[in-house]
Amino acid sequence: MSDSPSKIKPPQRRFYRKRVDLFRLIDKIKIWPSRKGLLHGIKAIEITGDQARITTHCSKTFMVNNSRNSRAARWLRNKWFKGVCPACGIPEWKLEKYASTHFRRHHGSDLHVI
Ligand SMILES: [Zn+2]
Repeated sequence: MSDSPSKIKPPQRRFYRKRVDLFRLIDKIKIWPSRKGLLHGIKAIEITGDQARITTHCSKTFMVNNSRNSRAARWLRNKWFKGVCPACGIPEWKLEKYASTHFRRHHGSDLHVI
């Protein structure tokens, strides 16, 4: 379960369900798509019920609702973004991990705790 950047491996393709829980997903990939189309790195996520407080590496804090159909959920699944936040400095390996993550309706993990 280590995200150690020192071990460079070819990115493993991951599959998640399209209806994966948004909070579990962002807790896993630690990336947030802003309304401006920039990907931010998530420093902290604090979940309280149906809301989560997200803090990015560029020190922005905001609340999000746990909706699979929200803008952010759709943008994450469809990988709609124009660029990467320069202040967040998301490492390349993390972007590759995200790039190798695929969303399928009938195949993949829904990230439920076993
Ligand atoms: Zn940022």
